[in-house]
Amino acid sequence: MTAGTDPYAVLGVDPSASQEALRAAFRAAVLRLHPDKAGPGEAAAAAYAATQAAWETLGDPACRAAHDASRGLAAGRRHVQVQVQLRAAEMGSEEYGGEACLVYPCRCGDLFLLPLSDLGAPGELVLVPCSSCSLFAQVQT
Ligand SMILES: [Zn+2]
Repeated sequence: MTAGTDPYAVLGVDPSASQEALRAAFRAAVLRLHPDKAGPGEAAAAAYAATQAAWETLGDPACRAAHDASRGLAAGRRHVQVQVQLRAAEMGSEEYGGEACLVYPCRCGDLFLLPLSDLGAPGELVLVPCSSCSLFAQVQT
């Protein structure tokens, strides 16, 4: 996905939309933009690819939460409790939903997931939500 592309805008949904609403928007966009329906053409193919890329970010709740947190979208939704402060180099690396993510264990037993595409500039602080509980890790990239 191109840096700066807002996957919510691509799918035409509000960042506060439920996971079910996101899925419905993705399905509708795929039906509308599928090459079998939209016909040939670079614009149609690009729109279809952008929709798929947006879904890769937002379709997995953990990666969506990490995306939201890295853009400050989650800040207004709940009180942020930082459990751990760490550097990106201290995190492990695994793949989730087709996207490479930095991972770090949360004390609840689940993981903090930071998609590599959401890593900011060196020295930047990124808040990463736990996949299960309300804790955050503050990661220095
Ligand atoms: Zn947790």
